[in-house]
Amino acid sequence: MTNQSENSDLMSKIFALAKRRGFIYPGSEIYGGLAGTWDYGPLGVELKNNIKREFWKSMVYARDDVVGIDAAILMNPKAWEASGHVKAFTDPLIECKICHQRYRADHTEEIEVHEAGHTSEVSSIGSKAHLGGEQMWTEPKQFNLLVEAKLGVVEDARQKVYLRGEITQGVHVNFKNVLDSTRVAIPFGIAQIGKAFRNEITPGNFTFRSREFEQMELQFYVKPEGKESKKWYEYWKEERMKWYLSLGMTKKNLRFRRHEEGERAHYAKDAWDIEYDSPFSAKGGSVSGRGWKEFEGIHNRGDWDLSQHQKHSGEDMSYFDAWSNKHYLPYIIETSGGVDRAALFFLIDAYREEKDRVILKLHPKLAPYKVAVFPLLANKSDLVKKARQIYSQLTINHLLQPVAWDDRGNIGKRYLAQDEAGTPYCITIDFDTLKNDSVTIRDRDTTKQKRIKTSKIAEEISSKLS
Ligand code: ATP
Repeated sequence: MTNQSENSDLMSKIFALAKRRGFIYPGSEIYGGLAGTWDYGPLGVELKNNIKREFWKSMVYARDDVVGIDAAILMNPKAWEASGHVKAFTDPLIECKICHQRYRADHTEEIEVHEAGHTSEVSSIGSKAHLGGEQMWTEPKQFNLLVEAKLGVVEDARQKVYLRGEITQGVHVNFKNVLDSTRVAIPFGIAQIGKAFRNEITPGNFTFRSREFEQMELQFYVKPEGKESKKWYEYWKEERMKWYLSLGMTKKNLRFRRHEEGERAHYAKDAWDIEYDSPFSAKGGSVSGRGWKEFEGIHNRGDWDLSQHQKHSGEDMSYFDAWSNKHYLPYIIETSGGVDRAALFFLIDAYREEKDRVILKLHPKLAPYKVAVFPLLANKSDLVKKARQIYSQLTINHLLQPVAWDDRGNIGKRYLAQDEAGTPYCITIDFDTLKNDSVTIRDRDTTKQKRIKTSKIAEEISSKLS
């Protein structure tokens, strides 16, 4: 098999596993779906919650210079005019004159694949040959990605609003509120996690490019001097890379890439992406059949946002620095990652096939279930009773996270199901448990089993979670 077909095969397998095990389903599937929308199932919501929890723990709880916020999705539309999104939150759109399919003009790989499709059509049916190369496409036009909605109860007077295209602006409009209501002082940051919406021209590659997705961000306010903002910029770039690695991402699958001059967003003074070596690219990639894709953006936004909001709202957005006795508009270093992209890339990165099993080697902190509990036989009431006891002790007293329960089929099959779900440990309650209060605990990665006292289960699992 070629690398290209191996990679598209891998994506089909991940897609199938995600559906089969309850990670991710197509959005509103029974109605034929809605392009660019996805629903997270029982395991998917846990994976996503775990990613968000780890983000919050490292970015907010572990630091004394970052606080959190949860701003509204709907904002006064003036905020989006001020931030430049109404004018400049655009992608260049081109349309194929043959089949009217639309593409982003900067997605050259997808365009080449599309052209190649028509070329083979042309040679087989001998028509449309006059529409080669550039003539095949309409001139690029700027297409705004903001999703519009209407608010209000009087039909003719309903107000046009936008579903936020990025979660960032809800933070900046609250810069003064946070300053006035907490004890933060520059340098400090505000973290936020929440949904964003974009009318993407070509949603696709599973959840990678969706029209509704979640972002996890930090807006870090620093003195506007070049030296200071560069220092913090480098610091946050490294911190974010370390975070992904600490959760088990394979190092060689991650890299930094600097944006070219013309590629940067309208607000960015400097921009680097953390990219993932994904198994998808429009034509399978030239050598490996893989394609580096944006995972998280780290931007120096300068004082763009605060100065724009100051201008458009008429409110003073400056910071008073008590040390220098001066007012200034701080610079903003932003780290902006996608929760859905993280969930997808963690799934891809963790996927392994062994001789007779498929495993998701998710970091225990991210695994939807930390442990599964099995009574050896479902029809032996004392085994089930003991297993239930252990199950609730683990869930309620110890982990406060979901524990899987499975009493169907043989133990081997139950192990295989948990391997696919990424559950790091399985515990079996058998007849010896009733005699000497011990259980077998089986490790997902090594498949090794050992016997431990029931009183030691919680300790054993916690050691892997810390
Ligand atoms: P792209 O170049 O892929 O369109 P972007 O540069 O527009 O992405 P940003 O505006 O920097 O992305 O958004 C920050 C992060 O939000 C991205 O790194 C990504 O993880 C996530 N994100 C952006 N757009 C989408 C989307 N359509 N679907 C899923 N996640 C997204």
